[in-house]
Amino acid sequence: MRCDVVAVGTELLLGQIVDTNSAWIGQQLAAGGIDSLLQTKVGDNRSRIVSALSDALRHADAVICCGGLGPTQDDITRESIAELMGVALERDIAMVATIRAMFDRRGRVMPESNQRQADKPVGASFIINERGTAPGLICPIGDKVLYAVPGVPHEMQAMVDQVILPDLVRRSGETAVIASRVLRTWGAAESAIAEMVAPRLEALDAPGAPAATIAFLASGIEGIKVRVTAKAPTRSAVDAILDVEEQHLRGILGDLVFGLDDDSMERVVARRLTELGLTLAVAESLTGGLVSSRLVGVPGASGWFRGGVVSYASQVKFDLLGVPEGPVVSAATAIAMAVGVRDRLRADVGLGVTGVAGPDEQEGRPVGTVFLGLAVPGTPPEAVEIRLPGDREQVRQFATIGLLDQLRRRLG
Ligand code: ATP
Ligand code: MG
Repeated sequence: MRCDVVAVGTELLLGQIVDTNSAWIGQQLAAGGIDSLLQTKVGDNRSRIVSALSDALRHADAVICCGGLGPTQDDITRESIAELMGVALERDIAMVATIRAMFDRRGRVMPESNQRQADKPVGASFIINERGTAPGLICPIGDKVLYAVPGVPHEMQAMVDQVILPDLVRRSGETAVIASRVLRTWGAAESAIAEMVAPRLEALDAPGAPAATIAFLASGIEGIKVRVTAKAPTRSAVDAILDVEEQHLRGILGDLVFGLDDDSMERVVARRLTELGLTLAVAESLTGGLVSSRLVGVPGASGWFRGGVVSYASQVKFDLLGVPEGPVVSAATAIAMAVGVRDRLRADVGLGVTGVAGPDEQEGRPVGTVFLGLAVPGTPPEAVEIRLPGDREQVRQFATIGLLDQLRRRLG
């Protein structure tokens, strides 16, 4: 069973809104074991909508079309579908009453234009909209089916979840499940990771290999995502394949892997600190609070985060943190900042970060030079020197995540 997606709306083409509906529908179809091979965006133009839908139906068994079911003149999905089906639109009196009742319940008078939402192509049936006024449509077209849903995300989602997916699964007679797992990595380039994983990719291509694929996704300062997707008759069979592939990949990538799926670096750090019963304090120079801000973004941060000092001026490093007077872009300063903030904020773990964000070099050190200081129980305080690419903003962002990554590796 193949179900493709057509999103309707000129604003999608103009980039005024991002087509998150198609992305969401794609996820749901995959989770339901339904192949989806093409997504199209088309403007609010009748002949182009008709041709987009008919193209989609030529290749797919089913099509979900979202958007353009509203009451206004530019909402022409209904008319376009009737044209495609070669039938008239008929007004459903019971649906007019349903929509009117919805307005009544909200204490509003129904504008007459909303009656249009009770129109359906002859031969189609409605999908009830519990969250809004525009009903969806199920339109049989030969042995295929076209579903129309509103563009408003939560209305669309309810219809896809409750009506369309079950209908598709029933029509397909197949009950395959497709699921993905994402391994989050930090510390190696996409090309390096792809090279490391290449043998496993080859193994998965061989006959008799599990039905799994591996893809790479570079996500800026959030690292490289390695996504495994598997297909099997049941959820537990899919999970079993994903478990095996995750173990293979962890074996290959080692501690480049910091988490799974929705994990973020700071959440992983938070989890480890909580497990170990350790508290944390941070002294920041060039990151100016970015590290603390990411940490505080984790719910429950008060359980392990003591606080941070933005010691930007050298004198503040000396006065507040006890950094010895002298050059401040150095390993010794990063260590002194980590130890100083740990002791003064009475934390178990201290972090310090100092460096040159640019645009100009400092103390003879080139832009992008960053020292990460770590004072972690069980090992002597230490500094890691890194050289980061990019402009001021990138250097600051990479320094932030780099520092959290160093801590993550030391917490084990
Ligand atoms: P309405 O009854 O609200 O007019 P509609 O079915 O006509 O619903 P549209 O007019 O196409 O839908 O879109 C309504 C709103 O839904 C848009 O303003 C936009 O915020 C959101 N929307 C529409 N299409 C998409 C999409 N593909 N992805 C994300 N959001 C969308
Ligand atoms: Mg509309």
